[in-house]
Amino acid sequence: SCGINFDKYDKIEVKVTGENVPRPINSFESSGLRTYILDNVKKSGYATPTPVQKHAIPIIMDKRDLMACAQTGSGKTAAFLLPIIHVLLNEPQDLVLDSEHCEPQAVIISPTRELTLQIFNEARKFSHGSMVKTVVAYGGTAAYHQAQQVMRGCHILVATPGRLIDFVNRGRITFSSLRYFVLDEADRMLDLGFLPEIEKMMSHPTMVEMGLRQTLMFSATFPEEIQRLAWKFLNNYLFLAVGIVGG
Ligand code: ADP
Ligand code: MG
Repeated sequence: SCGINFDKYDKIEVKVTGENVPRPINSFESSGLRTYILDNVKKSGYATPTPVQKHAIPIIMDKRDLMACAQTGSGKTAAFLLPIIHVLLNEPQDLVLDSEHCEPQAVIISPTRELTLQIFNEARKFSHGSMVKTVVAYGGTAAYHQAQQVMRGCHILVATPGRLIDFVNRGRITFSSLRYFVLDEADRMLDLGFLPEIEKMMSHPTMVEMGLRQTLMFSATFPEEIQRLAWKFLNNYLFLAVGIVGG
C-alpha cells in the first residue's frame, strides 16, 4: 500500500532548526546512498524522496542527532533506515559474537508489534542481499524464538520497548557497540506510558558511556514531554518539522 500523495507536498512547509544544516537532497540518486541500497529502494517502488526523507537522509548521513516531526504516512521509516543501512555497509564494524549477550549496532524502538514488524520488513527489504543482519523482538508467542535470534547477533534490532527492556535487564543486550538509537513514534510511546522506561534505558550505563552514538527521534506531534526528552538525550541536534506540527 502506497499512501503517499505527492501533489499535496508541493506547498508543504519544512523548517530545520540548529547549527550547520546539511542541504536537502532532491532525488535518491543524488543522495550519496550506495547503489546497492538505491536498487532496493527502486524495487520498493520509491521514485522520489518525500519531504521528510529529503531533509532527514543528509542529516543522518552527516552523523547528526535529529528530532523529526512529520505526520503519519509521510515516509519516516525510510528516512532513518536508508542512511543507517548505508553507514552500516559503508563503514562496517565487526559484530560482537558470544553466546552470552548481543551488541546491536542500531536499535530501533517502536510502540506496537505491528509497527515493529513493519519497520523490520522495510529494513530487510532495503538491506536485502547484504551482510546487514536485522532481528525483531516484540515478545508474545514468538518470544523464545526471537530471543534465540537476538543471541545469534545482529546489526539492527527492531523492538518494542517492553521487550527491549526485558533483554537489557537480563543482560542479554548491551549497548556497547551501539551506533544508532532510534525512537520512532515518540508521541505514541508517551500516550502508551512507555516514556519513564525509555528514559531509564537511555540512561543505562552502557548507553551513556558511548560517546559516538547517534540518537534519532521521530514523532507525528511534538508535545512538551517529547521536547523535554529531545533536549535531555539529543546532542547538538537538528530539529526538523514537516508541515504544521502541533504539541
Ligand atoms: P510514517 O512512518 O511517516 O507514518 P511510513 O514510513 O510508514 O510513514 O510510509 C508510509 C507509506 O509510504 C508506506 O507504505 C511506505 O512504503 C510508503 N513510502 C515511503 N516513502 C516513499 C517514497 N519515497 N515513495 C513512495 N512511497 C513511499
Ligand atoms: Mg512510522
